[in-house]
Amino acid sequence: MPFHATILTLFPDMFPGTLGLSLAGKALREGTWSYEAVDIRSFATDKHRTVDDHLAGGGAGMVLKPDILARAIDGTPHKGPRLLMSPRGAPLTQAKVRDLAAGGGCMIICGRFEGIDQRVIDQRGLEEVSIGDYVLSGGEPAALVLLDGVIRLLPGVMGHEQSHAEESFEDGLLEQPHYTKPNTFEGIEIPSILHSGDHRAIAKWKAQQRADITQRRRPDLWDKYVKRKT
Ligand code: SAH
Repeated sequence: MPFHATILTLFPDMFPGTLGLSLAGKALREGTWSYEAVDIRSFATDKHRTVDDHLAGGGAGMVLKPDILARAIDGTPHKGPRLLMSPRGAPLTQAKVRDLAAGGGCMIICGRFEGIDQRVIDQRGLEEVSIGDYVLSGGEPAALVLLDGVIRLLPGVMGHEQSHAEESFEDGLLEQPHYTKPNTFEGIEIPSILHSGDHRAIAKWKAQQRADITQRRRPDLWDKYVKRKT
């Protein structure tokens, strides 16, 4: 079964966006994945098709109304978990991306304004997902990021399935540096071990590089890795 994403958004034209090009675009045309971008505004009932209202308790800003969003969720058939893109959510990880790719699909709700009414998050069991500790103006770019990560893992999308195994985060470490021809670039040579033809030595070099880079750049990941291994 192909992966199906159901996206609730005030800006359906933002999809497929970047996912209509390159590998994801080809996979979309081939039917490896599909999506439906549903306009939340089409569930508004008043003459002005209002979707937001003022913050309760005062303060500047607007909030997506719970009744409209609940109607959009309930009225849109979808597969899999209901995700809400949110800076307060659980940080998106490769493990989460892998889980989603293994499932048949998901619903992704894109917030706007100050966010959405807490009651619809609770009542509809929305799972909040963040793509990092910074604030975007809307959930759409975050949804594109999440889907990009998922789509490249779907069977057939990347060609060399093998290449996933050694990538950053797949075993909790960052990736080793890469090189390609020319052999000398601005006076700097490709590490000679990579020309040795000694596959065991090369594997050892890669593992060492991954450990060094992870320790230096991401001590948090290194600590987790060491704890898991001991
Ligand atoms: N007032 C909120 C930010 C709202 S930003 C706060 O301080 O937490 C508007 C919308 O953009 C959010 O509802 C969410 O859907 C999306 N968004 C912003 N930053 C995000 C992030 N880091 N990850 C995922 N979604 C994000």
